[in-house]
Amino acid sequence: MVCDDDGSCRRTSLDEARKLFRSGDVLIAHAAFVSGRLKTPPAAALYDVLELFAFVRPGAPCVPSALGLARALGLAIPHGAQEQAAALRDAAIALIDLLKHAPEPARQHMRALAGTLQRAGWKWAPAILAVLGEADAKAHPIAGFDSWRALPSWEDDQAPDKPGSLPVSATDARARLAQLVQRMGEARPEQADYAEAAAYAFSAREAAGTPKVALVEAGTGVGKTLGYLAPASLWAEKNGPGLWISTYTRNLQRQIVQEIGHLYPDPEERAEKAVVRKGRENYLCLLNFEEAAKRQALAPGQRTVALGLIARWVGVTPDGDVSGAGFPAFLGASMPLGEITDRRGECVYAACPHYRTCFIERAIRRARHAPIVVANHALVIAQASQDWLSIDETTDTPPERRVRYVFDEGHHLFDAADSGFAPLVSGTEMQDLRRWIRGPEGRARSRMRGLEERLRDLTQDDPEAQSALGDCVDAAGVLAGEGWMARLQGGGPRGPAEVFLAAVHAHVRARSEDADSFYTLEAETEPLGEELLNAASDLARGLRRLAAPLIRLSTVLRKQMDAKSEELESFSRARIEAAVRGLVWRGRHVVPTWISMLDALEGARGEDFVDWFEIAREDGRDADVGLERHWIDPTIPLARDVLQPAHGALITSATLRDIGEGVDDWLSAEVRTGANHLPEPAKRASFGSPFKYAEQARIFIVKDVNRRDIDQVAAAFRELFLASGGGALGLFTAVRTLRAVEQRIAAPLADAGVTLYAQHVDRLDTGALIDLFRAEENACLLGTDALRDGVDVPGRSLRLAVFDKVPWPKPTILHKARRARFGKGYDDLLTRFRLKQAFGRLVRGEGDRGCFVILEPATPSRLLSAFPPDAPVKRCGLAETIADIRAFLA
Ligand code: SF4
Repeated sequence: MVCDDDGSCRRTSLDEARKLFRSGDVLIAHAAFVSGRLKTPPAAALYDVLELFAFVRPGAPCVPSALGLARALGLAIPHGAQEQAAALRDAAIALIDLLKHAPEPARQHMRALAGTLQRAGWKWAPAILAVLGEADAKAHPIAGFDSWRALPSWEDDQAPDKPGSLPVSATDARARLAQLVQRMGEARPEQADYAEAAAYAFSAREAAGTPKVALVEAGTGVGKTLGYLAPASLWAEKNGPGLWISTYTRNLQRQIVQEIGHLYPDPEERAEKAVVRKGRENYLCLLNFEEAAKRQALAPGQRTVALGLIARWVGVTPDGDVSGAGFPAFLGASMPLGEITDRRGECVYAACPHYRTCFIERAIRRARHAPIVVANHALVIAQASQDWLSIDETTDTPPERRVRYVFDEGHHLFDAADSGFAPLVSGTEMQDLRRWIRGPEGRARSRMRGLEERLRDLTQDDPEAQSALGDCVDAAGVLAGEGWMARLQGGGPRGPAEVFLAAVHAHVRARSEDADSFYTLEAETEPLGEELLNAASDLARGLRRLAAPLIRLSTVLRKQMDAKSEELESFSRARIEAAVRGLVWRGRHVVPTWISMLDALEGARGEDFVDWFEIAREDGRDADVGLERHWIDPTIPLARDVLQPAHGALITSATLRDIGEGVDDWLSAEVRTGANHLPEPAKRASFGSPFKYAEQARIFIVKDVNRRDIDQVAAAFRELFLASGGGALGLFTAVRTLRAVEQRIAAPLADAGVTLYAQHVDRLDTGALIDLFRAEENACLLGTDALRDGVDVPGRSLRLAVFDKVPWPKPTILHKARRARFGKGYDDLLTRFRLKQAFGRLVRGEGDRGCFVILEPATPSRLLSAFPPDAPVKRCGLAETIADIRAFLA
């Protein structure tokens, strides 16, 4: 649909749309997305209204579409393609209008930046300057980019007191909950019971190593967030900072902060009392940003435009979180965000000119003093398992922590631990370590420095340190270097690591059924050819030479710190500590673990682990090659490093237990969370959902769709989506099937006025896709695993979920080992969990109605206990399913 200047709108052919798009003289929302849809490259410069929005309203959240723009600007909500096309023009006019009323200091900054961006060829710059006045022709080449100059500094802080152990009683927890829900009416009885059960995790620990752990399941609608915030907030008030609420998804992190609003309605108090913490890679690194801006600002093109718009955001963001709601994430299509974050541990701490205003340092300090920290499982596991190892070389036992954890989305702890405790000797990992030690090699120097430059001033007067540093740099030559993958494929690997990777690559391909498969390939580590064994042993030898100087250097720096302890400023001390931590972590843990994995190829395999070789593939292309090691039961290190050293933990979810035939339903919860590895049994409690599934939900198992015939599968999705009038989620176990279905149904759905979004097809990240889907009541979304329980869409926007088949686990080497360990019911358990989580997306409120469809006739009845007992299940043909859905959702 195209709307002309005079306001008239018309349907257009694909060819004309492509022509217009390539001309650049058309208003659009999200150039990369439109380019993917039209399957044509964008013009060098475009009138992307999202860019204008990011310039005029920096930091304001906006779903990246015409509808999102209209919502964010308070314009009339557009319905259908025609109104959406017209909404782009209205949004552009509204934004230009807003500029007219901008206050003077902001105008100055915007004028300077728009002047710089005009030189870079930004299409919107002339219109903006026409409102704000011409920019200074003699302005600095990066005028307006330097918004970091106005950022506030964080204050040096005292270490907080250790948290106390005063318990929270059941009565107090109930009373606090009653206070919290006052504004919404009465607390539901099951919510008050939930708060009481959760309070157990905040009772005083009675013996070392025996945390108070509560496993509490709460069906959808119980109101568990407020239910646990009641005892948790009381505990924090009595005992001081030390409460960590952890989620699996960023989306829930955001929701919890919103719910904390009931606790602290005043936004300023809330910002002080509750702090969101994410991994370092989620925050903008000001030094990387400054360097990128200085490198880029003179060059015309979209990259410069993206940096300029990020400069606007830098000036207003409260936390520098590039994964947060206010960051213009669509700019990631024009410049990799990895370049402006601290992904590779190259931070120079107190030697950085931005140290005092650094977003990451500020977040760390705020979290230290905040009563409530909202984090994610990956960060909690990394902190608990790595930090002590990096500092303390004298013990193998994690230190006691007087913290209390709340693990929301607790059913994901197994997966989070599985990733968090899994070492990998791969090309990418080795290349990262080499770059961390040597800095970039063989191309133009960037700010990313090696150890030598980062530690120059600390080592230059110390011959011992210089010698250790030189040995590190020399020994790092054993590792894979930049361009290793190209050399691997071109037959010219360099050095022991690349020779090893080449042998692994050949081994995996030789053992694969389909070496050119679209998906990741893997192969067992037994039996092995001599060439691969020799390559592994050469690499292990080289790595031994690397580990020793890394440790030596850390010891020398530590000695320096001791010797100068009286004169060192806290900044310098923090910097040396960070350097020591990085060296110890790599020298004592990363490299030795790699060595032990390589040695194990020749020797005995450990019973607790499973090792395998892998060629990781992304979109059918080789992305990484290496040797993987996973715990068969990753909850063993989770219990040892995270749960046991804490004083208490609440593990909660709507899907903790597996209710299968003849199984102890709590056993599954304990096995999946590590509670079975604790010395004291966890307290168990469960609260059913208040929803009336008999009235609110329908489940269909379709008997007559031939899953081997992609045309039949696609037709089934199309008709089901049309029957619900959109608001549907399609879930697939394979990307290929998803793409084949998308190709077949996108056009007929569009003809019916239903917008279809698809993971792995649309050039948007998963979060943006979910935002788009949520924003429109009648859109449909196709996706794979990540969408299964990452989608939280209350109301009518999600009323139908369709699985293309039963989501059995993939038969990987790791899965085979786990099935052998956990028994033959393991596949059923995982599958029931997946169905339960997906079903849980459908009914989020008392007024919601939802249908759940599986297009697999042979769905075993034993899986159906995944659904609430009162939800009606029907096995029938497609035509009957469609008719029933139409009637039920009408
Ligand atoms: S202190 Fe580190 S993370 Fe912060 S801006 Fe400087 S280099 Fe980046």
